[in-house]
Amino acid sequence: MEKICVAVRVRPPVSEKTFNGTFWKVEDNRVSLHRQHGTPISGISYAFDHVFDETCSNARVYDLLTKDIIHAAVQGFNGTVFAYGQTSSGKTFTMNGSPTNPGIIPLAVKDIFEKIQMISDREFLIRVSYMEIYNEEINDLFAVENQKLQIHESLERGIFVSGLREEIVNNAEQVLKFIESGEVNRHFGETNMNVRSSRSHTIFRMVIESKGKETNSSSNDSSTDAVRVSVLNLVDLAGSERIAKTGADGVRLKEGKHINKSLMALGNVINKLSDGAKQRGHIPYRDSKLTRILQPALGGNAKTSIICTIAPEEVHIEETKGTLQFASRAKRITNCAQVNEVLTDAALLKRQKLEIEELRSKLQGSRAEVLEQEILKLRNDMLKYELEREKLELELEEERRSHKEREQHIMEQQMRIHSLSNLVTSSDSRSSSQSEQDCRRQSPEENCHDSLCQGDVFRTPSFKAAPNVFVAKRSNYSSLPDYSPLPDSFSSVADEDTWLKMNKGHMTDLDSLLITPARKVQSFPSDDATPGCSNESYEQEVRKLKRQLELVTEEKNDFQQRYTEQVQLNDQLTGEISELRQEALQVQEIPRRLCESVASCKDFYKDVLSTMQSFASDGKSSTAKVLSNTCEIWSSLFSTLETHFSMAMDANKSFQEKDSLVQENCKVLFERLKSTVTAVVLSETPAMDNKQEKDLHCSCNHKGCTLEGEASGWKETLSNDIDNIKRELDLSNELLEATKERYCSLEREFQVVKEERDSLLKDVAESSQKLALVTDQRENVLKDLNSQVQRRKDLEEEIKQFSAAFGCRQKSFVSFHNELKFNIEKLRAQNPVSVPKSLGC
Ligand code: ADP
Ligand code: MG
Repeated sequence: MEKICVAVRVRPPVSEKTFNGTFWKVEDNRVSLHRQHGTPISGISYAFDHVFDETCSNARVYDLLTKDIIHAAVQGFNGTVFAYGQTSSGKTFTMNGSPTNPGIIPLAVKDIFEKIQMISDREFLIRVSYMEIYNEEINDLFAVENQKLQIHESLERGIFVSGLREEIVNNAEQVLKFIESGEVNRHFGETNMNVRSSRSHTIFRMVIESKGKETNSSSNDSSTDAVRVSVLNLVDLAGSERIAKTGADGVRLKEGKHINKSLMALGNVINKLSDGAKQRGHIPYRDSKLTRILQPALGGNAKTSIICTIAPEEVHIEETKGTLQFASRAKRITNCAQVNEVLTDAALLKRQKLEIEELRSKLQGSRAEVLEQEILKLRNDMLKYELEREKLELELEEERRSHKEREQHIMEQQMRIHSLSNLVTSSDSRSSSQSEQDCRRQSPEENCHDSLCQGDVFRTPSFKAAPNVFVAKRSNYSSLPDYSPLPDSFSSVADEDTWLKMNKGHMTDLDSLLITPARKVQSFPSDDATPGCSNESYEQEVRKLKRQLELVTEEKNDFQQRYTEQVQLNDQLTGEISELRQEALQVQEIPRRLCESVASCKDFYKDVLSTMQSFASDGKSSTAKVLSNTCEIWSSLFSTLETHFSMAMDANKSFQEKDSLVQENCKVLFERLKSTVTAVVLSETPAMDNKQEKDLHCSCNHKGCTLEGEASGWKETLSNDIDNIKRELDLSNELLEATKERYCSLEREFQVVKEERDSLLKDVAESSQKLALVTDQRENVLKDLNSQVQRRKDLEEEIKQFSAAFGCRQKSFVSFHNELKFNIEKLRAQNPVSVPKSLGC
């Protein structure tokens, strides 16, 4: 037998206002009312187990008043801690505390779990519940829907609140979270929370079950089957003030009546219990729900402590006195606490515990709620995928169309390039063989094919073979189909649609699916397909490709334009070149004509010379010598001229090179001829003076006159001819010079044009390569898209399998549960339960 432990706690004053009349003084375990000047008022002094002044912390209160009860609860003793007092005296502060000053409840919770950790030879099962008694109605603070709960009593469970949610807890943090959520419910729907909180009682309850751990040595010992069940109540009572003082009416009056009923019943129970065991008689526990619930804690098998909170203000003196009187009465109550060790029901409790554990593990195993949520999530995801798939399909269709158009455009461009290239080639090699021309007259496709075979279709006007890179590339490119073929597997998209439509809402036969695809299901969430993201990246990719394609097309157009200009220039140059060739041919004709002129001159000269030599028949006269000299000079002159002209005819080039030499020779010969003729004329004049020759002169007078006239005549003719030849030579030289210059400049221009064309061809080859790259990328994107679609299809398949398996498991679980229930009922019927005495008190 032990007395209830009672303590008084004085709350700090609200204001620093000094007392006018009386004040409460705390001395050790005593609290007494004193007058202003310090003299105690007789009769108003109370002693308790503990009296805490305003400086005392919650932790100290816990240590001195509650700790033992908590530890005893862990050992199997029932325990109850009350906070009693008027409104705003500090009950809630003491029980719940504040973040910086945690109250009895959080401290007790932490302490219990710490204690349990230290007890290694027992295993514990802890359940918590939190209820509120408001207007004599019991409401569940863990489940807001559980209102107006009823109190029941059974052999097995003793007094209990039916329908009250009990949470099995494993650690202090979990409990504190539950309490926090319960506090929210406590204030639910209230406009004046303080009013309600001061009108309701809250009971936080922990049921601690413990059992010795089974060891081999003691497996047959009956004590190992004993289960200790202790109930710990931590109660924050409503304000104990009188109704008259609150001036309440209406609703408040009703509340007050209920509060009074509960508190009065509590007071009555306390009074009765305080009377002592002999005078006790009937204890009116059933007068209120509060006393009924707390029945085991009051005057029975429980370690109980009451903390009475008081407000130090003078205005509250009457209420404080009432609280202290209540505390004094409570102090007299004795309890008989004992460990609630249940032996007879051990098997049952053990079974219950096992059942709970089993059900719990099953629930946790199947994770019904979690799985349901997962299924919901999966379904949502599936819908999302569906939408995204449709969107992707539309985009794909769009992309296909635009791609086709682009392909078409590119093909057209290529055709145009082909035809332009052919034009250039044909213009370049107009002088080539007829067979080549025939080839070029073929269709562009044929040309394209031929370009591969021949490799030298692209010729520069200088007849140098162009690199065939572009030709090869272009021919490769032209081998591409009109549209990009889809990957084979992609054609399954349409089938998938049909599949989806056909399987919408379809449930697989559950019995046919026995294996749970656990591995696949596990892999599903972590896989995190994020189709939104992939779709986005795909769109980006497509946009990028489009941009690249546009750039390439622009580049191509640019090349095209440049190419056209180039072709025009080429044409122009070719025309000029052919003109030049004509001119060159004409120039080449000149030496031949000159040669002919020289030949005719030579013939004419021979005639003249033979005629002159016939005059100088003796061959000894100076005229004959001059004539023979002249003949030699002229012979050498003509032979030189003939040689050079024939050389010039053989090679125009050498002619050009030696033209100056010829001119020099001509000049020298002309000079020599001139001097010879002058010498001939001069030599004839002294001969005329000579006497010996007078006869000759006379005899040959006629002949001499004729010779002189003839000589001057052919001399004139000769000089005319020479002048003509010289003029012609000068002319042809000038012409040659101009032609040469023009040819050089044309050659230079052509070189530049050729370089440009080469670079152009290179650019075209590069752009073709880029285009091929872009096409490759696009194909890759299509492949990715296809694999995504496939993946989604797999996922859907997995979801379907998972749903089927889940249904199967649910079915088996329900049947198992029913079976279990049936077995429990059967066992209960077979083994009637004996109610533990302690719970029945
Ligand atoms: P009750 O629950 O009895 O109506 P409360 O616990 O709500 O009263 O306390 C009323 C006010 O007084 C609260 O603001 C609380 O913080 C404060 N209070 C009560 N007791 C103490 C104490 N011992 N130390 C500091 N503040 C306290
Ligand atoms: Mg309160």
